[in-house]
Amino acid sequence: ETPIERKPSWIRTKARTGPQYTELKGLVRSGGLHTVCEEAGCPNIYECWEDREATFLIGGEQCTRRCDFCQIDTGKPADLDRDEPRRVAESVQQMGLRYSTVTGVARDDLPDGGAWLYAETVDQIHRMNPGTGVELLAPDFNNRDELLDEVFASRPEVFAHNLETVPRIFKRIRPAFRYDRSLDVITKARAAGLVTKSNLILGMGETPDEVTAALRDLHDAGCEIITITQYLRPSPRHHPVERWVKPEEFVAHSETAEAIGFAGVMAGPLVRSSYRAGRLYAQTVAA
Ligand code: SF4
Ligand code: SF4
Repeated sequence: ETPIERKPSWIRTKARTGPQYTELKGLVRSGGLHTVCEEAGCPNIYECWEDREATFLIGGEQCTRRCDFCQIDTGKPADLDRDEPRRVAESVQQMGLRYSTVTGVARDDLPDGGAWLYAETVDQIHRMNPGTGVELLAPDFNNRDELLDEVFASRPEVFAHNLETVPRIFKRIRPAFRYDRSLDVITKARAAGLVTKSNLILGMGETPDEVTAALRDLHDAGCEIITITQYLRPSPRHHPVERWVKPEEFVAHSETAEAIGFAGVMAGPLVRSSYRAGRLYAQTVAA
């Protein structure tokens, strides 16, 4: 372990289980349900589950793209599972969630890039769980209007598409995405009347000034909610951690984002794009 790989003290989390968390844990176990929260070993699970919020992954375990920070395997995905939207909606129901985040892999192997799957999942969650908010964290569908429109028509409470990094290093970090194309997807979601959200991961080689510039670009593109997070390297095959961003720097980025005009901001070493997403959404629409 090289010194840079060693996590600084502020990355540690405390496990604080509450009654909602304990109940959810039991429901998930007895129902044989799958959440990203558990399967990714997310450190925020005690907080999110206490608010009855959780995240689900759709589209399978193989992604057709290869982002240098992402722990999901790249490969040929299995055939589309048309029953998945129903199962996810049922999991949301069984868990009694107040807010759910749905994310998934890029399905460039499918003619519709997975648009049906994403839209149908949002739709089924809404139909089976009328009081539950859905945040859709989606890939870019190659910025194709007919696919984006299909996804937007499912009316998630929040449409999120993550930019993740700054232009100078974007190509290396997200070779199958394009900075401007991702901004465009956010612009289109906002134009469709959706609440929009994005994320930036710090510690992959960007400078603080470049973070500010990316925040401006996102806001100009119509992004309303932003999360800013620390990169953690999933394995030695992935991009190295270039720096551990200090808590003070996250505070500074938060203040910058608020000054730029974002309606919802969450930044910190342990923040994930789905961290307390329902709370952040509620704050944003109340503002
Ligand atoms: Fe991971 Fe998404 Fe990139 Fe696929 S497109 S490698 S799931 S970040
Ligand atoms: Fe689950 Fe996301 Fe919260 Fe982690 S941050 S516990 S993945 S909802």
